[in-house]
Amino acid sequence: MSIPVVWKTPGEVRAWVRALQRRGQTLALVPTMGFLHEGHLSLMREGGRRADVVAASIFVNPTQFGPKEDLSTYPRDLEGDLQRCGSAGVAGVYLPEPSTVYPPGYQTYVNVEEVSQGLDGDKRPGHFRGVATVVAKLLALFRPEVALFGEKDFQQLQVITRLAADLELGVEIVGMPTIREPDGLAMSSRNSYLSAEERQRALGLSRGLFSAQRLAAGGEADVAKLLAAIRQELVKVQAREDYVEIVDSSRLASLSRLESGAPARALIAAFIGKTRLIDNVALPLGAQALS
Ligand code: AMP
Repeated sequence: MSIPVVWKTPGEVRAWVRALQRRGQTLALVPTMGFLHEGHLSLMREGGRRADVVAASIFVNPTQFGPKEDLSTYPRDLEGDLQRCGSAGVAGVYLPEPSTVYPPGYQTYVNVEEVSQGLDGDKRPGHFRGVATVVAKLLALFRPEVALFGEKDFQQLQVITRLAADLELGVEIVGMPTIREPDGLAMSSRNSYLSAEERQRALGLSRGLFSAQRLAAGGEADVAKLLAAIRQELVKVQAREDYVEIVDSSRLASLSRLESGAPARALIAAFIGKTRLIDNVALPLGAQALS
């Protein structure tokens, strides 16, 4: 395992990318906010299967945080992260300062319209504008063949897929399954905010989602019943619901019934104490095998 090279400026990245292109090597990019866990590493390893070289970015992007959100307290572990990137085969990591990404006078933002609305788009105004802007900048800088994102942030994945297609960036956006702790909790850098007691209560999210998934697999198509099953688990752990919705998987429009052959998704955002967690699962109707 080798520690990846670190770039602090776009100029350094561009020089490295040009050399890579001269050698005819393909590139996979994995953008992150750091405090890396197995979920992030699964994206990096898959990048290594899909391209010759993998690069990552670690940037806690201020424009995707609301004024009352956790920008200043977001967990960081740079040294550990570089080790983890190295162990996942990452060749280089871009670690820009906020003032490098958004220098004085900065005024260009990317707005992906419909899929940025509803769900986190409504609950976190401006969030997806910040996400789309930083991801567009990273894709324009690295010009990767492939970029990998997690289904854990399902709406974000749809926003980025749309953005890459609409701006004709010529990059394949790959969505990767959510990596979970053995007890079902979706891995997240924000899980580090949870006390031991809250960590147990946080299982209400995945339990609710799996319960809806089982009902759908057994043939239950009534969305009201599926939502009730999810909310039952949230109530048990005294989670404060931000939203619970069942939507079609591509447009993210609310559904009242599941239809076979029409991919649907259940999504939750809920507070456990002060920590806001999100999770989601696919809801195949009448499916025999559940993942
Ligand atoms: P973040 O550092 O939270 O911005 O996440 C960086 C990337 O890792 C995003 O594409 C996330 O969707 C993805 N990711 C975060 N958690 C997980 C997880 N548990 N499983 C798979 N991917 C994840």
